[in-house]
Amino acid sequence: MVTVTNPANGEELAKVPLSTKKEVDEAVQSAKQAQKQWALIPAPKRAEYLYEIGYKLKEKKEHLAKILTKEMGKVIEEARGEVQEGIDMAFYMAGEGRRLFGETTPSELPNKFAMSVRSPVGVVGIITPWNFPIAIATWKSFPAIVAGNAVVWKPSIETPLMAYELGKIFEEVGLPEGVMNIVFGNGPTVGTALIEHPDVKVISFTGSNATGSKVAELGGRHLKKVSLEMGGKNAVIVMDDADLDLAVEGIIWSAFGTTGQRCTACSRVIVHKDVKVELEERLVTGISELTIGDGLDPNVKVGPVINRAALEKIHRYVQIGKQEGARLLTGGEIITAPPFDKGYYYEPTIFTDVLPHMTIAQEEVFGPVLSIIEVNSLEEAIEINNSVKFGLSSSIFSQDVNNIFKAQRDLDTGIVYVNAGTTGAEIHLPFGGTKGTGNGHRDSGQAALDVFTEWKSIYVDFSGKLQRAQIDTDK
Ligand code: NAD
Repeated sequence: MVTVTNPANGEELAKVPLSTKKEVDEAVQSAKQAQKQWALIPAPKRAEYLYEIGYKLKEKKEHLAKILTKEMGKVIEEARGEVQEGIDMAFYMAGEGRRLFGETTPSELPNKFAMSVRSPVGVVGIITPWNFPIAIATWKSFPAIVAGNAVVWKPSIETPLMAYELGKIFEEVGLPEGVMNIVFGNGPTVGTALIEHPDVKVISFTGSNATGSKVAELGGRHLKKVSLEMGGKNAVIVMDDADLDLAVEGIIWSAFGTTGQRCTACSRVIVHKDVKVELEERLVTGISELTIGDGLDPNVKVGPVINRAALEKIHRYVQIGKQEGARLLTGGEIITAPPFDKGYYYEPTIFTDVLPHMTIAQEEVFGPVLSIIEVNSLEEAIEINNSVKFGLSSSIFSQDVNNIFKAQRDLDTGIVYVNAGTTGAEIHLPFGGTKGTGNGHRDSGQAALDVFTEWKSIYVDFSGKLQRAQIDTDK
């Protein structure tokens, strides 16, 4: 049993039972059974369930957003945005029911037809983090379902209520039993059981690098297809010709929105030396205007972090930053004054004079901590952006078309923004990162279908005789 509490004030929200290894097996068996029939339903018909899910999500948007804020802490406006992401994904993937395009191509032999089609893989295992408890589940389960798979989903132990709410919606629209299954529980037991299960063909994981490498290792041992979306160390580059008002707004939104707990959160600002001091001053003023508190209050812009462990981890990084010689411009403390002492609040924090090799410039802090690094040129900025082990998101503020085109070519991240912060992905484009952020797969967009389908190449010979490829082509 796990007790779910509100990170804003410690209020107990629910007690949730944890699944056992045996229940994981039961869920997989139920998925396996259901998938056989599900795959035979025409994709446009399967898609109709997703349209219904989209409408239900729309109808319940406010209800879901409030639970999301209470359970995970993000401010209500962002919680609404996250539910909207699920709605968008439902309608987008429902449209896939009438596409799921394959390819036709000429055969090299006469009277022969060749095509390739997407086939479902069977039972899909999904493992998700707490920071986007509903959106990420929809990014993964909707393409899996429309492609004809059945799903077993293990949400984060921190956010079981959102999973329960989404599960209810699948039930309410009458999705055939067994197509979507949820198992609650911690990673080492329930997650491992899912990855090791011989009937689970694909694991789609989003979470930290530490966990992702364990998932990849175990999945690899069992020859599973494993899709990993992991951490980031995302940077905003501010050039000397940037619109500074816009840059400040973009940086504050992407560094302190979701209290810095987005995989795409901006945690480094790489700024041209000529505008550094002015940018620093404006950022410090900007964050002094952010209201901190319970995200249900519509005036609040920065909510709590997820739990005590996160608070302590963030504070440890701040201490390391100081020890390594970075200069604290503002923040740097756990907020302990009442009523904040009942929740997990950290001051929005900015370090400057950060050097690219410092720990706070290299590792994912996953909290409201921003590091400012000074550079002399665009080339140096790009080099520093690319010097981390992650490759999720990056951004450049500049008015110079040459700078912009060089940057979008040379920044080595999976997502690049121009004159916007590092967050704000739209669901119909591929989402994911290079290098240590992932292993080459993508969530969202058409690319998500590649994770949940196998390509099948089909040759139809209507010549009435045996024609041998590569051999009879000479005749
Ligand atoms: P986490 O790695 O602690 O947990 C993620 C999921 O893995 C949870 O469901 C957890 O229970 C499960 N898990 C833990 N140990 C496991 C094991 N041994 N085997 C199988 N499953 C296991 O991550 P978190 O703290 O929930 O989320 C924050 C992290 O997620 C950050 O690093 C963030 O950058 C990353 N993230 C990445 C993306 C992306 O798309 N790239 C999106 C959101 C979050």
